[in-house]
Amino acid sequence: MKCAVIIVGAGHGARHGGEIPKQYQSIDGVPVFRKTLDTFLEHPDIEDVVAVIAKGAEPFFSVIASGLRVQSVIGGDNRTASVLAGMQALAKTPPDLVLIHDAARPLVSKGLISRLITAASKNNQAIAPGLPVADALKRVGVSGEVSEDMSREKLAQVQTPQVFPFKVLFSAYTNLSATADFADDLAVARSAGMACSLIEGEPDNFKITRPGDLQRAERIIQTKTQITFVSGSGFDVHRLISGDQMILCGVPIMGNLALQGHSDADAALHALTDAMLGTIGAGDIGSHFPPSDEQWKGVSSTVFLEHALVLLQKSEARLVHIDLTIICERPKITPHREAMRLRLASLTGLALSHISVKATTTEGLGFTGRGEGLAVMANITVALLN
Ligand code: MG
Repeated sequence: MKCAVIIVGAGHGARHGGEIPKQYQSIDGVPVFRKTLDTFLEHPDIEDVVAVIAKGAEPFFSVIASGLRVQSVIGGDNRTASVLAGMQALAKTPPDLVLIHDAARPLVSKGLISRLITAASKNNQAIAPGLPVADALKRVGVSGEVSEDMSREKLAQVQTPQVFPFKVLFSAYTNLSATADFADDLAVARSAGMACSLIEGEPDNFKITRPGDLQRAERIIQTKTQITFVSGSGFDVHRLISGDQMILCGVPIMGNLALQGHSDADAALHALTDAMLGTIGAGDIGSHFPPSDEQWKGVSSTVFLEHALVLLQKSEARLVHIDLTIICERPKITPHREAMRLRLASLTGLALSHISVKATTTEGLGFTGRGEGLAVMANITVALLN
């Protein structure tokens, strides 16, 4: 399924003389248009990017799009004519789906783009993001007098990107009269009888229109790129029994001791998994892999660790540091410490300098002192990318 996007930035923005059009102004140091282009260029499903720019805006555009694989075309007198110019640029090697997006919506998310493409390819129809109307709606006269209360039921605010099967939309566009002027592309599609549906849009995907909108976008970006560090802790104990090997930190330790319990009884990976789940509030290892479930019997505990890593990734959390303390009288941990750190590095992708494995005894006191069991405490740090 080949997807292309047309990014419409042909507006002149503020009519007041001399002001830079809003799509060329910067938020957080990046021009609005550039930010929008980057999001689509980074999306794995988008092959071609066409930017529609205003006549006379070429010098601005060449600066902000320098080095990008973007084709630019000059727009027309209104939005409809501008989109048509973009469609014509794509028609030589037509995509299956075309997304049409406002350059002035720089906070469009890759997730929204993916959801739209999935919905459009599944249903082979026009799909756009929409939001329910929260405020009361009134019809007002020129001097602000309210003439009618309107129901907001069944109404939606429609955003972009809007996605269409290219061929159908292109033929709708080529059949329009030269003076046609539609508010958006769903309106063009509907005028040609195409079925259109909405999926849930995103409040942050607003159009920079009013004074203060650039600052609002800037604030949103700053909150999103903020990194928060969160720590998690885990603790686990397994009984020591006689046997010819135990697994600790994924490393086999040969001798006359074994650990008894869930899976391969690797108390270190269990404590570590619990610490990771703790950073994202995702319960504990037992809730994901119940000990009563036969399928986990004897299984390598690396499975649990990998599961927790996937959950972290889904929460946009990145493991940055591991600090383990193994508490036992036997076996001696020091001879195995480096093998354990290397194993943890290969399991987690962390650098060795961010993996600590420590060991202590309890001076002969308690169950660990009597050699009845082995305990592990895990402390970890994750970076949350909000
Ligand atoms: Mg355990």
